[in-house]
Amino acid sequence: MISVEQALAEILAQVPNGRPTFCALSDSVGRTLAEDIQSDIDSPPYDKSLVDGYAVIAADIHSGVTLEVLEAVMAGETPTQSVQPGTAIQVMTGAPLPPGADAVVMVEQTTRDLEVVTIEQDSIQPETNVMRQATSLAQGETILTRGTIIRPIEVGILAEIGCSSVPVFPQPKLAVISTGDELVDSSEVPQAGQIRNSNGPLLQALGQEFGAKAQSLGIGVDDLKALSDLVKSGLEADILILSGGVSAGVRDLVPAVLNQHGVEQIFHKLKLKPGKPLWFGIHQHAEGRRTLVFGLPGNPVSSLVCFLLFVTPVISLWQGGSGNCLRKTKACLNSEFQQRGDRPTYFPAQLTEQDGTRYVTPLAWKGSADQRTLSEANALAFFPAGNQRYPAGEEITVLEIPS
Ligand code: AMP
Ligand code: MG
Repeated sequence: MISVEQALAEILAQVPNGRPTFCALSDSVGRTLAEDIQSDIDSPPYDKSLVDGYAVIAADIHSGVTLEVLEAVMAGETPTQSVQPGTAIQVMTGAPLPPGADAVVMVEQTTRDLEVVTIEQDSIQPETNVMRQATSLAQGETILTRGTIIRPIEVGILAEIGCSSVPVFPQPKLAVISTGDELVDSSEVPQAGQIRNSNGPLLQALGQEFGAKAQSLGIGVDDLKALSDLVKSGLEADILILSGGVSAGVRDLVPAVLNQHGVEQIFHKLKLKPGKPLWFGIHQHAEGRRTLVFGLPGNPVSSLVCFLLFVTPVISLWQGGSGNCLRKTKACLNSEFQQRGDRPTYFPAQLTEQDGTRYVTPLAWKGSADQRTLSEANALAFFPAGNQRYPAGEEITVLEIPS
């Protein structure tokens, strides 16, 4: 059996270098920029007023001074005159600062009477309520860099700098097949011997959360023909995830079906708890593209751990990311932990922080099907292989599950 590190290296070596594509700005949230982006404009594009008020010459201002109002400039208009000593131009927020003016008195500090305005403040510093051209960003300047994950904030910036078609790394298509004769859809009431399919929705949601275009292909019964049909459509995706059917049971047919479809096994089983039966292989399509295929153990907790450890790095790398989605950190054990066995363990745990110190509590986990306990987890506590007692207070490695 190979180690977690070897398994990850084997998997990541199969991720293709996807060619960047373009997507519409409105579809770009969550995608990763494939190029540095320069601005095609200065921002602001002209000296502008930050308030509704009167553009003035700061040296003119003292309490009670009366200035002749030459014109009014709305946002979207341009001034036709210059401010001269003893005059002012009325401006709205966002309107260009008229030539000659060097400050704007807020309307609240003035009284208007026909063609004149009386100022009610003692003085004003030059540049008050003015934002000069290119203060925020300059034309030609690199504003966002390759590798940036686009959030709504970046969408706003990209709109401002004229990037309506966004160069992004490709987004992998991920398909999920949940195998098992015992499975019924979550909308059904399980009959004797049946359970609801929780892996399908869980894995699809994980795929989406980490940026893949994820789709569930539903439940596959443990039958060679039925699984074969599903695998055929699953191989149209870039990443195919099957849950269940990869252990040593009589009806664990997934490796055989994948083999029938020409999926080349890279490894089966690794030193990991939970997740030992993990199967990984690749399907090389005639047209040159490749599907990475994961057979995850059926237990939801094992499925989750395997997805977090091995599938999230693939999705990240596929999209031009670093391949690291889980943040590695150190935390003090809240309670003692007895590690047993020859497999490294990634135990669902709760990570908290108090007065700047991180604490981790391995959850009172009742086996790898215990999803309820899992709902309290926001991290995986790591314990290397070997029989060892970790006392409370000991510092251990923890992987944070991003929320
Ligand atoms: P398997 O890997 O197929 O032997 O399944 C291991 C365990 O996980 C069995 O108890 C299954 O009933 C359970 N299991 C398999 N698939 C699912 C699923 N999609 N949702 C919930 N539990 C599952
Ligand atoms: Mg099964």
